[in-house]
Parts: sequence; C-alpha cells; structure tokens
Amino acid sequence: IAKGVDVIEDGFSADLIDTSKPHSARMYDWFLGGKDHYPVDATAARKVMELFPHIKGSAWANREFMHRAARYLSEKGVAQFLDIGTGIPTPPNLHQVVQQITPGARVVYTDNDPIVLRHAQALLRGTPEGHVAYLHADVREPELILAHAQKHLDFTQPVGLSLIAVMHFVTDEEGAHQIVRKLLDPLVPGSYLMFSHFVLEDPDLMQRLQDIYRAGGTSVQGRSIEGVTAFFQGLQLCDPGVVLAAQWHPDGRTPAREAPGLYVGVAQKV
Ligand code: SAH
Repeated sequence: IAKGVDVIEDGFSADLIDTSKPHSARMYDWFLGGKDHYPVDATAARKVMELFPHIKGSAWANREFMHRAARYLSEKGVAQFLDIGTGIPTPPNLHQVVQQITPGARVVYTDNDPIVLRHAQALLRGTPEGHVAYLHADVREPELILAHAQKHLDFTQPVGLSLIAVMHFVTDEEGAHQIVRKLLDPLVPGSYLMFSHFVLEDPDLMQRLQDIYRAGGTSVQGRSIEGVTAFFQGLQLCDPGVVLAAQWHPDGRTPAREAPGLYVGVAQKV
C-alpha cells in the first residue's frame, strides 16, 4: 500500500466544468461563504436561501458535524476513511482533522463534480506518514469506488465511511439505501458510517427546492427522519442517534447555530 503519495485517477479536462448550469458542490461552496462558484451557482443558491433562510447555518452545522464525527472516530482508533461527496476543499478537510490526531491516517476522497477534481491537488496535501487519494467518481457506482479504495486502504482494518450531505442527491429509484449497504458490505466489523442528510418536511417547499436543483441536472430526494434513519439499518447507532447536526456531540469549539433540516448520525458495523 502506497504511503504519502498523492494520486488523482482519471484524465481531466477543464471544459468538463459546466458554468451554464448550477452544480450542488458550487452551491454548497456559496452557502459556506467560499469563492469557488460561478454566477449561475450564486443565483441558484440565493433561490434556495429564499425558500430556506437557514441554509448557510445548516451548511456550516453540517461541515462542523463532519469535523466532530471524524475526530470522534479517530479517537476511537479509526485510521482510514472513505469520503464520498467530498465537496470543494474547505479547511479543515477531513484528512486534516484526522491526521492531526493520527498522522498516519489514510483518506480516500471521491466526488462526481469536475470542479472538486480540479481542486483535488490542493486538497491532497497530507502528512508524510499518512496517505490521501482522490477519485473522480459517482456514489451510484459503489463497486468502482470500492475497487479504487481497496488500492489505498487496508480492508482488513476498520474504515470510516463518510457520506456527508450527499445521499439526498441520490433517489430511492436509484437505490440510495442499497448503495449505502453495498459500500458498507466489504468493511470489517468495527468500521463506521458517518452520515448526514437534509430533511424538509414541507412538501411544497421540498418541491420548489427540488426544482431549483433539477434545473441544474441534479435530482434531490426528499426523505423523512425515518427515511434517513433507514440508512443505518443493521448498524449500531452511536449516541445520541439521528439528531440535528448541532445536537450531535457539541464540543463548544464552534458557536451554536440555528441550523434546522440537517440530520446526522454515526453508527458502527458490528
Ligand atoms: N461532504 C461535503 C460536501 C457536501 S456538498 C460536506 O459535507 O462538507 C455535496 C457534494 O456531493 C458535492 O460536492 C457534490 O458534487 C457531491 N455529489 C452530489 N451527487 C453526487 C454523486 N452522485 N456522486 C458523488 N458525489 C456527488
């Protein structure tokens, strides 16, 4: 297994970046106050904020949950992570959080947006002891992702599978829950799932939100808290279960945010 080597698989051409339609990664960057988006993304993101005024707080609450969950798993001894739907790098990124605790930690990142691939070189600077890799791939191709991850991670040891704010972009028709089970299947007991998902109970608001994303070619699947909890089926949920992001192991490092809609959980494979 390689060490400290930065890998990008797949050829890349800048014209893969489509600036005519909004993309979820670039809209999320706008929610976080980043600079890596285009006017078309800002326009769509503002429309989302009109429907859901707390979106910026929820995006940050989501990001901060990722930090806390990654720290939580690192402190439990998990030293390998497979992060799917990575997003545009926003420090601290997952490998920075976990390598601060475990310098030898190994992280495989995956996203299907070419803009994330473009930034992956910058994202890939990890510790010399550890290992960071990036794959341009779609979560709807779990076999391909697993085959790649197995080149970089030791599957005889626990892996933290990170699906943070990505599965609401995969529909039930596409088999969202089955995809997560396929991704968990080859992981050894002692592995974990860290997960977050947007929940909007108002069907009319949900429809309008879906329309904004669909105009950019991204489908959004509305799910209830029960639909979100179903992703943890067969796993042992860690306390406090499936809760709003800000309620999951608050550590006082960041201000408490008013951040509705974003449900999170961490669970162990036993
Ligand atoms: N996980 C990060 C980013 C969330 S934004 C965080 O929580 O901070 C959602 C990300 O999922 C975007 O970067 C988007 O490009 C990616 N994404 C959306 N659909 C995807 C798919 N089908 N396969 C892989 N990545 C996807």
